[in-house]
Amino acid sequence: MNIHEYQAKEIFRNAGIPVPEGTVATTVEQVRDIAARFGTRVVVKAQVHTGGRGKAGGVKLAHNPEEAAGLAEKILGMEIKGHVVRKVLVTPAVDISHEYYLGVVLDRAAGRPLVMVSREGGIDIEEVAKTNPGAILREHFDPSTGLYPFQARQLAYGIEPEPHFAKQIASILIKLCRCFAQVDGSLAEINPLIRTPGGEMIAIDAKINLDDSALFHHHDLEAMRDSSAESANEAAAREMGLSYIKLDGAIGCVVNGAGLAMATMDLVKHFGGSPANFLDIGGSSSPDKVITAIRIITEDQNVKVILFNIFGGITRCDDVANGLIRALSATKVKLPIVARLTGTNEEEARQILGSVEGLTPAETMDEAVQRAVELAR
Ligand code: GDP
Ligand code: MN
Repeated sequence: MNIHEYQAKEIFRNAGIPVPEGTVATTVEQVRDIAARFGTRVVVKAQVHTGGRGKAGGVKLAHNPEEAAGLAEKILGMEIKGHVVRKVLVTPAVDISHEYYLGVVLDRAAGRPLVMVSREGGIDIEEVAKTNPGAILREHFDPSTGLYPFQARQLAYGIEPEPHFAKQIASILIKLCRCFAQVDGSLAEINPLIRTPGGEMIAIDAKINLDDSALFHHHDLEAMRDSSAESANEAAAREMGLSYIKLDGAIGCVVNGAGLAMATMDLVKHFGGSPANFLDIGGSSSPDKVITAIRIITEDQNVKVILFNIFGGITRCDDVANGLIRALSATKVKLPIVARLTGTNEEEARQILGSVEGLTPAETMDEAVQRAVELAR
């Protein structure tokens, strides 16, 4: 689950990380009032579940309440990478002497969290990672003990030689790692952590992604969910009990079971294609799930072909086939479909699907995926 910057800042603030004040607004009038109350220059910041807001024009400095209102007018309703801005954070502007990057991610390969820091923080950190990876220092830590002070110092001095500044960075790093572990994060990031001309360190941006699988024991965090910021498709999928993650490829995948879904995506890549999504319709299938799945997939303009890969165990192939037929008549799908349904009631499924126009049946996974990759070209 993603949360907004203002929510991540609240978590950081409670953890003792210095963050600026700020108030969230949904209307231009509120923004004007808040800016007037702060009585200083403010930054108006789009609250959306994506990065790169600054580059997209979603983070702007205002010198007075009137200017803040004018900016809010532009930013509210703006679309950033497919996310419509419905809320903005209004926060006092700070003067910046330097921008650092601090981040923690879960390194699945190492089975541990990984801290990354850089002296080259700010909006171009992705570019730094590509062109100058040496400018990013890395260190794993054990979430049960946290980042050790010596590790924090090593990282901090690695990006800031001045002891007074490095000590502040080390302290913030330890708190950031503690936060990451406490919330069961998959990512916790401060980009940028800034140094003011007065020598203070402040987190002016904050990002936390939460691990959905751990949310059940974080009711306070679950309450931070902003359904209005989730795409309609994600919400529809969650309600129907489907696990859906949108990707950028052209092959829409409908699969049952997370493992098979992963294997299918791997195979799509293996044969030179790219999946448009991860989608697990779950163990026991109902035709309604299949209909929702097809609806979600066909709304993605990138999709050129739909690939069904169903292993019938508890899921019955004829159920999926029936769902497919109903979905096709309900949604008027024009895309080619490749279907590989194997296992419980596969004969029935084959009969049901035998007459469907534009549908290619396949016996094996390799065959199905190869066919889908060809059709997507
Ligand atoms: P992002 O683009 O989504 O990562 O949004 P950020 O919150 O990181 O803001 C992008 C950039 O805007 C930062 O890297 C800063 O350079 C600039 N910025 C944001 N807030 C302030 C501020 O209060 N004062 C100044 N001078 N620049 C700011
Ligand atoms: Mn940022």
